[in-house]
Amino acid sequence: MSGNESRLQAIAQITNRETTSVNSPEPLDKIWATDVFNLAKMEEALAKTAYKAVKKTVQTGAPLDPAIAEVVAAAMKAWAMSKGVKFFSHIFYPMTNITAEKHDGFIVTNSDGNAITEFSGSLLIKGEPDGSSFPNGSLRMTSAARGYTAWDPTSPAYIMHTDNGSTLMIPSVFMSWTGEALDKKIPLLRSNAAMDKAAKKVLSLMGETEIAPLNSSCGAEQEYFLVDANFANARPDLLLAGRTLFGAASPKGQQFDDHYFGVIPARVQVFMQDYEDQLYKLGIPAKTHHNEVAPGQFEIAPYFEAANVAADHQQLMMTLMKSTAAKHGFVCLLHEKPFAGINGSGKHVNWSVGNATQGNLLDPGSTPHDNLNFLLFCGAVIRGVHKYGPLLRAVIASASNDHRLGANEAPPAILSVYLGDQLEKVFQDIKDGKIAISQQGGEMDLGLSQILKFERDPGDRNRTSPFAFTGNRFEFRAVGSSQSVSGPLVAMNTMLADSLEWIAETLEAEIAKGSDLATAAVAVLKQIMDLHGNVVFGGDGYSAEWHTMAVEERGLKNLPTTADALPYLREDFIKDLFSRTGVLSNVELESRFEVYAEQYVLSIEVEAKLMVEMAKTLIYPAATQYLASLSMTSSSMSGLGVEMDSSIASSIATETNAMIAKVTELEVAIEKHDFASIEAHMSYCAHDIRGLMDEIRSHVDALEGDVADDLWPLPKYREMLFIK
Ligand code: ADP
Ligand code: MG
Repeated sequence: MSGNESRLQAIAQITNRETTSVNSPEPLDKIWATDVFNLAKMEEALAKTAYKAVKKTVQTGAPLDPAIAEVVAAAMKAWAMSKGVKFFSHIFYPMTNITAEKHDGFIVTNSDGNAITEFSGSLLIKGEPDGSSFPNGSLRMTSAARGYTAWDPTSPAYIMHTDNGSTLMIPSVFMSWTGEALDKKIPLLRSNAAMDKAAKKVLSLMGETEIAPLNSSCGAEQEYFLVDANFANARPDLLLAGRTLFGAASPKGQQFDDHYFGVIPARVQVFMQDYEDQLYKLGIPAKTHHNEVAPGQFEIAPYFEAANVAADHQQLMMTLMKSTAAKHGFVCLLHEKPFAGINGSGKHVNWSVGNATQGNLLDPGSTPHDNLNFLLFCGAVIRGVHKYGPLLRAVIASASNDHRLGANEAPPAILSVYLGDQLEKVFQDIKDGKIAISQQGGEMDLGLSQILKFERDPGDRNRTSPFAFTGNRFEFRAVGSSQSVSGPLVAMNTMLADSLEWIAETLEAEIAKGSDLATAAVAVLKQIMDLHGNVVFGGDGYSAEWHTMAVEERGLKNLPTTADALPYLREDFIKDLFSRTGVLSNVELESRFEVYAEQYVLSIEVEAKLMVEMAKTLIYPAATQYLASLSMTSSSMSGLGVEMDSSIASSIATETNAMIAKVTELEVAIEKHDFASIEAHMSYCAHDIRGLMDEIRSHVDALEGDVADDLWPLPKYREMLFIK
């Protein structure tokens, strides 16, 4: 195929495609959680004592007796087999963003050659995948490659249906044979435990007597693009890198804002319905969906859940989103910036902490006492973001998210906290010593109940903030669309744990001085504002003034690339944070740095190589072919005595030569392998390689505007984003 033949074929395929039919939707109560072995199913299947024990584990994380696990395994197997399942798999989350699974059959044969099925408690609890091919930093020598997966009973098992039959999926942790965490789930569980421990200290100092286990919650809003598979298949960059390495802007982009919250295209509605019905069967509470700002971009948000379950569900949602899109002739792009010049995709991580006795501690509540607890937890977040801003930046650092952060559509790469006008004023008043504590009916009153209730109004939004209070939770808005939510949740829970430990100590000291509770709490909050108030910012996070002010006056860090952010994982204050809270040992943290750094370098290398290939084998031939035909036209016209304008031909020649010159430079640049450190290698990728890639792209995009449409080999932005 040459020239635009593949494009035309793609357009014909799309125009002539038959509409996918939808099965008329089943009522929600018919499909909800039918494929999940949840507490309701366990209650039906288990004896009372066994059920009670599992329930306690699920709800509080208490350890489970192996004898009970045996009983649960038997019940789980019976349930799964009754639904036609023949295989089971531990499902786990290695340090890459992927989901890993190893399938095993229930089948074993007995000595008579008859097939029987076997699934014991020990198989439920522990698996042993050959872990050597999962990235592990320097944690495991490949010669000692044994890794274990272990059942996480706090996240429900479920059945995945594929064309290859149905499999019982068992959410699991993944660790080395020496017990180090090799995955994203173990640190999340540990961070939750650290937060629980510290929160209890603060709450009991605040006079709470009954304190249920605390858990963090997460509701993630996922943005994504859908592109017709015919187009995606004609774009090697979308297939291999998940984003367009070339592509001139469409004359019509998102400037009319006519896509945001507009009517969802019929074909996409069919996809969404199919997708959401699958989510419901898996007990994932899909709640909202709508068009996003960019053409071809959409969002889905499930209702929030316990962080550990939400994180598992998030991974599952991404997997299903891709497979369902494929069924409907789409490719689902989760990349943070698939198209230059229009909005990229993020994943807003809404996060709060709470328990059954005190409720959501990031909710101001309605009594003066609730207000105080709320302010302390809010203060803990402020302190955390200030002290550990670079960590929050590091956990969302990736080659793909770098394209988005700070691009004036996404939050900047400077971590600040947005509180909203009212709450910001409360904290400012505390800092200025202007909060008057009065005695109201025997209770200390800060006079805040009215104000803080008003604060719940979610209309008060600042889209330019990376970390915003939204009434009863914080929203970490800088997270990338393709990322696991675990890293951000671990960072937030751990910084909160650290702050709450500090608050407990400081509060105790204030109380020891003889202060009453409210006075002591306000004194602690004032210290937080004095030391960390600089991180609170309600203005325009996109503005140039903020970038200067943040760094020069407030001492905040602006870390524009992964190469700037990731090395913070090696800093002492971050190592201390994780080891003190018991979330990650130094070795475990170092291994994460190594894995993420390597992924960063590899993904940029892959893109660079692909760019070289596409420029040489797709763009160069198109440009020179067009030049040849222009020069032929020009000389034959010349023979007729007509001189043709040659500006287009010269421009194409200039751009083509410039492109090839840079491609040659890039080819050499990719071959450099002697770096003093991995940090130096990352920085080289961020600046030298990326710099060359940007230049090559600008030449190619200029060529796209000059070369005849029928010779251009890649589907164009206006086609991919607008043909449905
Ligand atoms: P918006 O687009 O206005 O930010 P959405 O309704 O799209 O809001 O998404 C908000 C997300 O925040 C949802 O997943 C919602 O369930 C979640 N959420 C709501 N309350 C809390 C909370 N207390 N803790 C964590 N997440 C929450
Ligand atoms: Mg939101």
